Amino acid sequence: MYKRVLLKLSGEVLSGEGEKGFNYERVKYLIEELKSILEYGTNVGIVIGAGNLFRGREMEELSPTIADQIGMLGTVINALYLKDIFEKENVKTVVVSQVSTLPSIRPIHYDDINLYFDAGYVVIFAGGTSNPFFTTDTAAALRAVEMKAEILIKGTKVSGIYDKDPKIYNDAVLYEKLTYDEAIDKNLKIMDTEAFSICRRYSMKILVMNFFKKRNLLYAIRGENVGTLVVP
Ligand code: UDP
Repeated sequence: MYKRVLLKLSGEVLSGEGEKGFNYERVKYLIEELKSILEYGTNVGIVIGAGNLFRGREMEELSPTIADQIGMLGTVINALYLKDIFEKENVKTVVVSQVSTLPSIRPIHYDDINLYFDAGYVVIFAGGTSNPFFTTDTAAALRAVEMKAEILIKGTKVSGIYDKDPKIYNDAVLYEKLTYDEAIDKNLKIMDTEAFSICRRYSMKILVMNFFKKRNLLYAIRGENVGTLVVP
């Protein structure tokens, strides 16, 4: 059973696929899944995207640097939204970020992060990598390495990594296991190459799995065979 995990979730987990904003029913599902693993004392770090609010690349009228900064602020909005809802559900949560100095957000200090985990807090890493031209997948890879997670779990709407897009091709084949090199060489679109590359450098295991299948997150942290594992 994994004791320390980094969970990467797209912002659309909060709104529903292709939707914008927040859908409380969706958020309740996330809380249930999260609680099912917190029960076991698992340390959970979360990197949340901002696809439900703003993605830099979708705003062609803006300069990429500005659009991406707005995108990063979107992840801060999502993190604060989650913190408040989690705490109402008795899930102790701290938001850390390097891009914002709001009163409810703490700076990222490695020693403190260990203290938060020891005290049973969920740690939400907001603000992406703090740099434009990246995505929250890459932020997830960085934070997973920094927090010394045993695995980076990417929760998606599909069952794992396929040889081609399963939403378009009926005959798409699901991989059970891949190496980082294979994932990068095949240019699989499920995660950024930069994220795969950071994980390869630091031998950070990645699991891509269907977050919307009930209890999949629990099975994932038990090390069961859900989704696609990317390993050295
Ligand atoms: N972003 C960025 N740098 C980062 C992470 C995110 O500039 O390190 C911006 C970028 O504009 C991106 C947006 O924030 O489109 C939201 O992140 P992402 O697309 O990863 O969200 P998701 O698709 O996971 O919801």
